[in-house]
Amino acid sequence: ILMLRDVSRRYAAREVVKKAGFALHPGRITCLLGPSGCGKSTILRMIAGLEPVDGGSITIHHDVVSAPGVLVAPEQRGIGLVFQDNALFPHLNVRDNVGFGIQSLKPDARNALVQELLARFHIGHLAAEWPHTLSGGEQQRVAIARALARKPVLLLLDEPFSNLDGHLRATIRQALMADLRDVGTTVLVVTHDPEEAMTIADDLILMADGRVLQTGAPSECYDNPVSLTAAQLLGEAI
Ligand code: ATP
Ligand code: MG
Repeated sequence: ILMLRDVSRRYAAREVVKKAGFALHPGRITCLLGPSGCGKSTILRMIAGLEPVDGGSITIHHDVVSAPGVLVAPEQRGIGLVFQDNALFPHLNVRDNVGFGIQSLKPDARNALVQELLARFHIGHLAAEWPHTLSGGEQQRVAIARALARKPVLLLLDEPFSNLDGHLRATIRQALMADLRDVGTTVLVVTHDPEEAMTIADDLILMADGRVLQTGAPSECYDNPVSLTAAQLLGEAI
């Protein structure tokens, strides 16, 4: 449903994404794994349409949405985006945060969809709470439910579990990914944690220094890394 071809991006004289290419397949969870500063968030912002590409192209369902001189607006892409810091609206309770992007729906339809999402992500009991009273994991669920309310064709998650600590992290991650799988949305998750990538990905994209090194099933990448760098990226996993 989404294809990047030779996508490049430069800031001033420095090229931070270098002819990156990959495809995302419907209903699958893909992890983009690479070290800090390799260009992962930049790629997500380009996919979301928050910044242009300097070279190459991005297509959604065969429509070119980004290319030099072409930049389809973010709200026309049907892409949901959840950043690291969640950014819930502090002045809205959980229910209104989830319903925020679907105000154009009739009240009945809107309420039904919000109820469904609250239930699916196990946050129904928090509907009347304010964001600042929630734990990091709960805020994460609200942010993802809010993004899914608009029924995106693709959900982008940038380091979604980075603000969760220690022993809770794996549990929260597992539960949340299982719920996302049930929804059936195509998901692209950015992480620099190899263990996380190996655990949650159906498909894996390995990145270093602005380049895509390898794409494939996690076990395939792990068993047959294309280079020393690719092996090192996965080295800490398992
Ligand atoms: P992290 O894992 O730390 O989040 P990342 O892989 O997401 O890293 P990016 O945020 O995409 O990395 O950044 C890639 C490179 O581009 C970095 O060296 C960063 O300093 C640089 N960069 C990102 N945004 C800008 C900008 N707006 N202006 C100039 N340089 C930028
Ligand atoms: Mg980043």
